[in-house]
Amino acid sequence: MSSNTDFALAVEDLTVSFDGFKAIDALNLYIDKNELRVIIGPNGAGKTTLLDLICGKTRASAGSIKFKNTELTRMAEHQRVRLGIGRKFQTPSIYENLSVFQNLEVSFPSGRSVLGALAFKCTDEVKARVQVVAEEIGLAELLGTEAGLLSHGQKQWLEIGMLLMQEPELLMLDEPIAGMSARERELTAELLKRICRNRSVIVIEHDMDFVKQIAHKVTVMHQGRILAEGPMEKVQADPKVIDVYLGH
Ligand code: ADP
Ligand code: MG
Repeated sequence: MSSNTDFALAVEDLTVSFDGFKAIDALNLYIDKNELRVIIGPNGAGKTTLLDLICGKTRASAGSIKFKNTELTRMAEHQRVRLGIGRKFQTPSIYENLSVFQNLEVSFPSGRSVLGALAFKCTDEVKARVQVVAEEIGLAELLGTEAGLLSHGQKQWLEIGMLLMQEPELLMLDEPIAGMSARERELTAELLKRICRNRSVIVIEHDMDFVKQIAHKVTVMHQGRILAEGPMEKVQADPKVIDVYLGH
């Protein structure tokens, strides 16, 4: 029997009003462990706002957000990060003047180690983690390169790597392939498929070929609500979805 505790994330009756306008309207969403969910929908549907609510950037007006059965709704953003929630915004926030290695190094969670203030003792642990993450994001050959010199796609991967340094159990990405070349999109699809093997991932995306490649299930949002949900083929054939989104 399944219960709420089986979900990585359980969102129930979630609502947020901005001056009376419900950007998210009594929304329910359940994400499994190791699931890669893609959220699609027209501009203004509330997709980014939903991620803002889950990571704590925006406070819910009503409803519940449970992460591994812990209620998040009134928790501060940094506490949610500590619990294992990572969020990538649309504009990358890497340190352009630092090397790839340093960008990953500074993202290692401080205070994670029992050694605490004796952080220098953790150097080997940090180095090892940087190496693992750099390989995962395909930048192992570029550890010494200044981040500002990376291609647009590589910067996006570096930012994903900075989030992976914290070993999040839920990773949320808002339009990660915007502006990427075809090859970079392919590599990003492979990257996302790899990283959801040991965590849940939520991706907001518009590119349907990309969505098809990566999604386990697709959620279609419209006017702060869920219009349709299920496997890509089912959602694509849904007349409601064609009407408000795919038909345009
Ligand atoms: P999407 O990401 O699906 O394009 P958004 O979540 O960005 O949509 O926006 C959903 C709706 O909520 C839009 O009408 C937007 O103008 C509104 N909205 C988002 N954030 C705020 C805010 N902080 N204050 C007022 N309105 C907002
Ligand atoms: Mg958005």
